[in-house]
Amino acid sequence: MAHEQPRLNLRDGRSIPQLGLGVWQVPQRATAEIVGEALKAGYVSIDTAEGYQNERGVGDAVKASGLDRDSLFITSKLRNSFHARDDALRAFDATMEELQLDELDLFLIHWPRPRQDKYVEAWKTLIELQQQGRIRSIGVSNFNIDHLERIIGETGVVPVVNQIELHPTFQQRGVRDFHKQHDIRIESWSPLGQGDDLKRPAIAAIAKKHGKTPAQVIIRWHLEEGLIVIPKSVTASRIRENIDVFDFRLDADDMNKIAALDDPRGRIGSDPATADFG
Ligand code: NAD
Repeated sequence: MAHEQPRLNLRDGRSIPQLGLGVWQVPQRATAEIVGEALKAGYVSIDTAEGYQNERGVGDAVKASGLDRDSLFITSKLRNSFHARDDALRAFDATMEELQLDELDLFLIHWPRPRQDKYVEAWKTLIELQQQGRIRSIGVSNFNIDHLERIIGETGVVPVVNQIELHPTFQQRGVRDFHKQHDIRIESWSPLGQGDDLKRPAIAAIAKKHGKTPAQVIIRWHLEEGLIVIPKSVTASRIRENIDVFDFRLDADDMNKIAALDDPRGRIGSDPATADFG
């Protein structure tokens, strides 16, 4: 299935595919096959992390695909316990060895872990690696506005992306303006609410109206909101379903109905202000 892949421009002059496959909780031994399915289905972007322990599988799939390296966009993330410069440099080397790549498209600080108070040092190290030509674009994940203000204030370098929890039942409206003002793209993690948002009757009704599935409606919503979206599935048929979203559009009524699902208490994952794991 060949798809015209929409891309969003990044503030550093590069661009990112708007839809990708997330591989959190995909076991290392299954990753190459699952990512291989996704690449065959037309995905060009894969989101992994050091903490997912499956970068090797992503790298193996990229290699086996025979696809042109520059047609693909690979993201990984720095582990929370490796924010100190020397640790971050070593961790990045290990990431590149696992992924078997010469340059990474996007590297993110996975969590700010504010109690550790080393995320500015981590950000400076990502800037250094980008200056050396080893990373094309640099960004962050789970950064609140105060964390963003601090890294921008101390380095003058603005991340191109902030990957945060965002789905219909947790829409993060309160931080969207700040990102827009600073031209930071928002990438939605757990975009399907880890599957829970698929069960909402309003989503099912919109899906029925368009002859699409609940997952396709939610992925379409992220695209129309101008967000980057990285749904995860380990099932080949769902992987294909989740990229088959370019033949319909949501109308204003659909968008209003989904807007009404927003719940400021709808967070599933950890709160970045207090998350302190390694
Ligand atoms: P998700 O919201 O993508 O939901 C995935 C789940 O939804 C699947 O396990 C499956 O149960 C269900 N699903 C997927 N497609 C379906 C379909 N077509 N029909 C029915 N059910 C379907 O959850 P996620 O994995 O938490 O998030 C996606 C990605 O976001 C991750 O894999 C990872 O790459 C990224 N992520 C990043 C962070 C971070 O801290 N930066 C945290 C969590 C996730």
